[in-house]
Amino acid sequence: MKRLIYADNAATTKLDTDAFEAMKPYLLDEYGNASQPYTFSRAPKRALQEAREMIASCINANPNEIYFTSGGTESDNWAIKASAIAHGKHCSIIASQIEHHAILHACHAVEQMGYSVAYLPVESHGIVQPASLSSIINRETKLVSVMYANNEIGTIEPIRELCSIAHEHGALFHTDAVQAVGHVHVDVKALAIDMLSASAHKFNGPKGIGFLYIKAGTPICPYADGGAQEFGMRAGTENVAAIVAMAIALQKNCSRIDEVTTHLLSLENNLLDALQDAGLDFIRNGSSNHIPGNISLSFKGAQGEMLLHRLDLMGISVSTGSACDSKITQVTHVVEAIQVPNEYRYGTIRISLGYENTVEEIRYIAESIAKILR
Ligand code: PLP
Repeated sequence: MKRLIYADNAATTKLDTDAFEAMKPYLLDEYGNASQPYTFSRAPKRALQEAREMIASCINANPNEIYFTSGGTESDNWAIKASAIAHGKHCSIIASQIEHHAILHACHAVEQMGYSVAYLPVESHGIVQPASLSSIINRETKLVSVMYANNEIGTIEPIRELCSIAHEHGALFHTDAVQAVGHVHVDVKALAIDMLSASAHKFNGPKGIGFLYIKAGTPICPYADGGAQEFGMRAGTENVAAIVAMAIALQKNCSRIDEVTTHLLSLENNLLDALQDAGLDFIRNGSSNHIPGNISLSFKGAQGEMLLHRLDLMGISVSTGSACDSKITQVTHVVEAIQVPNEYRYGTIRISLGYENTVEEIRYIAESIAKILR
């Protein structure tokens, strides 16, 4: 059987086995609706509260500041749309040019509704410069949203500085931390963040579940109207099994961040050395301060999409930063924003490693890329 190597952990991760085991009782036996007052619902209700406490402690929040959602996309949409609505038509928003589409498309939607949105550029490593925020923020700005870490290139943004500039101008600060939570230490209080989005399937939890951290007292509208779940802010019967699994996965990932980081940084060095030894001409995109294991590479004269398919035939799963649309090859908005030089930009791929990847796999990935490109 062909050996398959998964190297697309920024797209999704494997469900942790403890998280999976923790789900079972709430699917099979303790399936009561957590909102009901009777004895049968006591266990799921307690599990929900414990999960909220566990998740809150992983990011240094209070439990009543954690709102369960269906994942990163919903959390991002909530933060952007409900902040706009809460502040009225004279509200303007600032986001970065390299946000995930969950933020960018939510921003386009509020623009359609009449709100104004400004998009911050980034420098060549994908960093949003605090000075560029200072130069455009004004009294109308009610929300600044800059991602904690970029999904395509892994760059970690200067959140503390950006957040304090937003606050100096009376604006709220939201961060899409979908790629960061569970991978680097995140402390919402130390950074003074007002809202933060996270998604379980990026940190070995199940798909379709996530949360939005909303600092107590933040002016924001509910996301879904209906029942009184999630403190009346996000109606809908809670997916207790998935929430419990998310909490277990997050706690486990947070407890081993340093150990996993060491492993991933060593794999990164192995890969880069092997590609260099093979004589390939490439650029590594992103900043030195990045999400461990997120490696965006642009190979001179190559086609990212061709590379993806050839690697797939060799049993390796990675992502690309460009796609062929009929006759023209288009690069992603992130590759565009960081201005990867023309000879390299179309040959962009993202290899995103997880704690289960091994040195042998890295060697095989490097050999396979070299075989295709030489
Ligand atoms: N934000 C970022 C930075 C992401 O990488 C992703 C997923 O790729 C999302 C948001 C969307 O998260 P979800 O898949 O949970 O909707």
